[in-house]
Amino acid sequence: MDYPGNLFVVAAPSGAGKSSLVKTLMELDSHVQPSVSHTTRAPRGQEKHGREYFFVSETEFDAMVQANAFVEWAHVHNHRYGTSKKAIEERMSQGADVILEIDFQGALQIKQIFANAATIFILPPSWEELRSRLERRGEDSSEVIEVRLQNAALEMAQVQQFDFVIINESFDRAVFDLKSIVHAQRLKYLAQRRARAETFKALHIS
Ligand code: GDP
Ligand code: ADP
Ligand code: 5GP
Repeated sequence: MDYPGNLFVVAAPSGAGKSSLVKTLMELDSHVQPSVSHTTRAPRGQEKHGREYFFVSETEFDAMVQANAFVEWAHVHNHRYGTSKKAIEERMSQGADVILEIDFQGALQIKQIFANAATIFILPPSWEELRSRLERRGEDSSEVIEVRLQNAALEMAQVQQFDFVIINESFDRAVFDLKSIVHAQRLKYLAQRRARAETFKALHIS
């Protein structure tokens, strides 16, 4: 499927720094816009309905699955998460670059549908650091942290299926790496031909 903007898909084990990196990227680059997912998990302290996620009940989620409202959805950490068609179609049709922060199952589904999407996997520098970030973040109970660490091994084993890998050791370096990927994606032939159509026309090339 083709679309007028670029699509970025970021996956990582919980605590690797995905949300912090994507948030910083969007602060630096207003052309990159988020896709807000639906989830059946409860909101954390500062999270707002419609900003980080649309928080819905199991029944509401089921109804959306039945109505074919999702581009992709998956079971993650004992809950369900999904990208609605609405979350991305409107922004993509306006030509915005859309960034999805989703689990690896969803990322691979998106790549099947949108072959030009750039898939990015964020790795932590070590297991010790991953655990200490989850603990320092202070948002999840110790049981939830254990589930997330167990799932991390399975998730990280999928890294080979991704186009790009960022190791989030120095935060600033990782932001630079993410910006570089966005920039490189915008320089690809199809993206340039779309963004600079007038120049291509003036040069009599297609
Ligand atoms: P986090 O891992 O600390 O960011 O915790 P969250 O509860 O916010 O997310 C848990 C997992 O669900 C992460 O791997 C997210 O990337 C993933 N996730 C969030 N939204 C979606 C979605 O729309 N689809 C899929 N497939 N996964 C999602
Ligand atoms: P995710 O969205 O992947 O679960 P977060 O973005 O919530 O991860 O990051 C987990 C925790 O680690 C947060 O408290 C964040 O401030 C911290 N963090 C993120 N990147 C780094 C880094 N490079 N060095 C140290 N701490 C980091
Ligand atoms: P969050 O609430 O997502 O954990 O992070 C809030 C902000 O803190 C992010 O937008 C990011 O700019 C910053 N941040 C998070 N972790 C680090 C880090 O380890 N180093 C630096 N320099 N900034 C960070």
